Amino acid sequence: MKKIHMVDLKGQYESIKERVNTSINEVINSTAFINGPEVHTFQKELEDYLGVKHVIPCANGTDALQICMMGLGLKPGDEVITADFTFAATVEVIALLQLTPVLVDVEPDTFNIDPEAIRKAITPKTKAIVPVHLFGQCANMDAIMEIAREHNLYVIEDNAQGIGATYTFKDGSKAKTGAIGDVASTSFFPSKNLGCYGDGGAIFTNNDDLAHTIRGVVNHGMYKRYHHDVVGVNSRLDSIQAAVLRAKLPNLDAYNKARRAAADKYDKAFETVENIETPFRDGADDNHVFHQYTLKVKGTDRDALAKHLNENGIPCGVYYPIPLHLQKAYVDKRYKEEDFVVTNQLVKEVISLPMHTELDDEQIDFITSKVIEFTSK
Ligand SMILES: *Cc1c(COP(=O)(O)O)cnc(C)c1O
Repeated sequence: MKKIHMVDLKGQYESIKERVNTSINEVINSTAFINGPEVHTFQKELEDYLGVKHVIPCANGTDALQICMMGLGLKPGDEVITADFTFAATVEVIALLQLTPVLVDVEPDTFNIDPEAIRKAITPKTKAIVPVHLFGQCANMDAIMEIAREHNLYVIEDNAQGIGATYTFKDGSKAKTGAIGDVASTSFFPSKNLGCYGDGGAIFTNNDDLAHTIRGVVNHGMYKRYHHDVVGVNSRLDSIQAAVLRAKLPNLDAYNKARRAAADKYDKAFETVENIETPFRDGADDNHVFHQYTLKVKGTDRDALAKHLNENGIPCGVYYPIPLHLQKAYVDKRYKEEDFVVTNQLVKEVISLPMHTELDDEQIDFITSKVIEFTSK
């Protein structure tokens, strides 16, 4: 059996090696390392793929989120509601801009921000909601957009884990994640569903004025060379990363399909196992792109299971072990433990198994047999 990786970047590279190597070499020969034609072409190709009017590439997914908030003109003291159960980057940029993060609980099945908890957290200072399409599953965008419309709030989608997922609205219409809210961010970190070979990120929006503002923000607040109209940042996707992404974008749907196929096999193996709850899937198949395959283990020692898997050469992860509202950097007197019942429970139960585009049946059989061996003891 091939060695099992949490994410098999090497195996995936082997399958696209020639195209990637040629593209990278072309960039080096052209010496257009920054803002080269590859960046512009990738931007257009991603706009087409997502069905969104504007893609603005930038340096990473954390910058992308920050720039979304800068572009919307959020000001110190404005409250921004986001999920307690997500990667810290989401709340970090809110705090960094001296906005006020308001963390709320998530749904026990999808792990995504709970629309009812959003409603309860709204105050006259609330300006924006940041749903995260966690582990690759679409947040409840029908409910979130409705709340935003009712209260005149911005919606900033953190799409770092959800790229390629398709949301189906209640009326049957569909849209890619990241093309639904006012603006969205994504990350091209190597292990993300569309990853480059270093750092990278992007911002999406259908709003022409906002896109114009953001194009200045990413480039030192410049709209005309050496005229700095607003305080900006320097956040660029480099041409070599764009070349890698151009080679991978045509495969993104196939990559996500491979992830779903692996998830289906995991699901099937765990179907009748009592102590394991497999990932809930809400609606259509393409609603979930399985950035992570995350189980909930009940009545079993999760950390001992992780150790058992590691001892058998199976990597696994706990995303995330501590609720954000309990992280030192983000504690706040306003938070009450009874408002975080779900997150407080999830951090004890979740475990993510290896998930990538190169998992084969032999590996999946081995992984599932080792999980079952432990949980049925
Ligand atoms: C990865 C990730 C980010 C940050 O992306 P970087 O490119 O690493 O800065 C933000 N939010 C979520 C939910 C992520 O998973």
